Amino acid sequence: MKFPLLVIGGGLSGIAAAIRAARFVPDVLILEKHSRIGGLNSYFYRNKTLFETGLHAITNYAPPEEKTAPLNRLLRQLKLKRKDFSFCQQYQSEVTFLDTQSLLFSNDFSLLETQIHEKFPDCIDKFQRLLIFLDTLDPFLPAPFRSAKTLLTEVLGDKLLTEMLLCPLMYYGSSHENDMDLNQFAIMFQAIYQQGMFRPQTTIKEFLDQLITHYLSFGGKIKKNSKVIKILHKNKTVVGVELHSGEIIECDNILSTIGNDETQRLISSEPVTLLPRLGFTETIFRLKADDRLKLPEKKTIVFFNTSEKFSYKKPTDYVDYSSGVICFPANFKGIEKKSHFEIRATHLANYAKWKAISTDKKAYADQKVVSSYKTLTCLQNIVGNFSSNIVYENTFTPITIERYTAKIDGAVYGSPQKVKDGDIGFSNLFLAGTDQGFLGIIGSMLSGVSIVNKHVLPKL
Ligand SMILES: Cc1cc2nc3c(=O)[nH]c(=O)nc-3n(C[C@H](O)[C@H](O)[C@H](O)COP(=O)(O)OP(=O)(O)OC[C@H]3O[C@@H](n4cnc5c(N)ncnc54)[C@H](O)[C@@H]3O)c2cc1C
Repeated sequence: MKFPLLVIGGGLSGIAAAIRAARFVPDVLILEKHSRIGGLNSYFYRNKTLFETGLHAITNYAPPEEKTAPLNRLLRQLKLKRKDFSFCQQYQSEVTFLDTQSLLFSNDFSLLETQIHEKFPDCIDKFQRLLIFLDTLDPFLPAPFRSAKTLLTEVLGDKLLTEMLLCPLMYYGSSHENDMDLNQFAIMFQAIYQQGMFRPQTTIKEFLDQLITHYLSFGGKIKKNSKVIKILHKNKTVVGVELHSGEIIECDNILSTIGNDETQRLISSEPVTLLPRLGFTETIFRLKADDRLKLPEKKTIVFFNTSEKFSYKKPTDYVDYSSGVICFPANFKGIEKKSHFEIRATHLANYAKWKAISTDKKAYADQKVVSSYKTLTCLQNIVGNFSSNIVYENTFTPITIERYTAKIDGAVYGSPQKVKDGDIGFSNLFLAGTDQGFLGIIGSMLSGVSIVNKHVLPKL
């Protein structure tokens, strides 16, 4: 059978793209290398207990009546009913630069404005000017890289406020070391500060199951354990793919969501030049719900920095513990109480260091234990003691990301060079997802939808 559209990758961008296309043409086929869908935002089981791999919070919260907000637009494009989902908003999050300053923010933007007014009184007028500037910027117009850090430093005239505002946006969506593309900054500023964060009442598994059931109802198909090893093409036109099993699948169009360089490697055996990428570790600590001690109950996410200079770059050691993200997935409004309570922590990590020991099982496992211990120490300094109540902990490294999603260098946010229009020089092969430039769950899903709308639907 010849498929009208193959989607390579069953992460959130691939699933969203496939649903959008299947609404108009059934027989869309998702090819996913792993036995599970979801990509970076998936799940796994330990001792029959489900753990989420990635979900801290979804950005871009919007109430149902805000029809043009990205969240509601996305649901409409996918023909999903908002009432079929139960979304729980964050309580309050914090950026804390230890011993110096803290800024609280929530889904009510006025909290951040008040905080800046109180804590950076000299900057509040300048901050308002920044808002006016961001209002006039169209971040979706193609533009070369412009430094958000330079702009913020110029407009705000305050290094600390600049770094504190950048910290959450970089951790949740910058593939550049120590900076961010201005357009990406504007998108993330709106997504995180102006609109805010939420999560589904359910686990990511149930969320993904809902999406896949919906996709299958349009006649879409999915093939798991199906790694694409070659994209077959002639005269800049693709004709099909070859799977790891040797199976050939013919198609009219392909949408790849696995990354630009990763896709180029399927097109040709020529080596690709790689730009430096950022890796992360994520550690999950699980406590019994009744043993949550004095841990914050109404704080959802804490973005922290403990060093003189906030450094968002590849560390020289395995992990940089001086900054990171702490998430309490139970601290969302209205979320049902579970038998356990989790704390998740993200730090920047060095892929090459982890790679060098990854074939030595003991050295790798030992280093994960060291990393988990250091993360714990760091977290306890910020949120209070909980070590004696941990019932389970697990750390994943850039090697885990590489193993399960085949991202080069295990880089969550892919290459720093993005292909904004999804056009990689073929008449019927397009790029969506992480390397198209929209990051995070809503960003990657909107990426899938927008590339299907722009390039694929006109051909189907
Ligand atoms: C620890 C962590 C926490 C995160 N937390 C959040 C959060 O709280 N909120 C948020 O908004 N975002 C979060 N993110 C980011 C978010 O998960 C990603 O930006 C988004 O899911 C990317 O989706 P994607 O579809 O573009 O890529 P991916 O999820 O990487 O999907 C690509 C898929 O392609 C498959 N694949 C790769 N190569 C092949 C091949 N050759 N053949 C077939 N299939 C292939 C992979 O297995 C994968 O399933 C987090 C990420 C991580 C790692």
